[in-house]
Amino acid sequence: MQEPMTHVSPPGPRPAPEEVEAEVEAILAGIRADGGRVTAGRRAIVRSLLTAEDHHVTADDLAARVQAEHPDIHRSTVYRTLDALEEMGVIDRITLGSRGAVYHLADHAHHHLVCGRCGAVEEIPAELLAPVLEALADRTAFALDRPRVAITGLCPACRAAG
Ligand SMILES: [Zn+2]
Ligand SMILES: [Zn+2]
Repeated sequence: MQEPMTHVSPPGPRPAPEEVEAEVEAILAGIRADGGRVTAGRRAIVRSLLTAEDHHVTADDLAARVQAEHPDIHRSTVYRTLDALEEMGVIDRITLGSRGAVYHLADHAHHHLVCGRCGAVEEIPAELLAPVLEALADRTAFALDRPRVAITGLCPACRAAG
């Protein structure tokens, strides 16, 4: 008998600023290694995604967060930068139920449970769905993209509220 909730990792404690900077630098180093340029916009977006409450942020929210610290970075630049980072595989764009499209960093593979009532997101470790996705690829001969699954439902808090 499985205990499903033990496999679900809630957002961890907020990392220390120096840990955030180290992670930002590691991700930017990856961009450079792939021949990409590191711009102020790219740096600001990576940092915003790392420090966001649950690491899943809409394009509008990201633009607002970036502009709060860098008023000189245009909204249109933020949107263009999001497209570029997605193309480079640094971030993923995922549709999370009623929350619509959000972005997360692609550096740790995971899937999502999304509450249809309050919009809460729980991350599911990628290993949990790996056998299912492999079986799917086998049976259909489909070459799957890097999968980013979102399954909707009712979170424990909303269930308790009735
Ligand atoms: Zn995610
Ligand atoms: Zn909920």
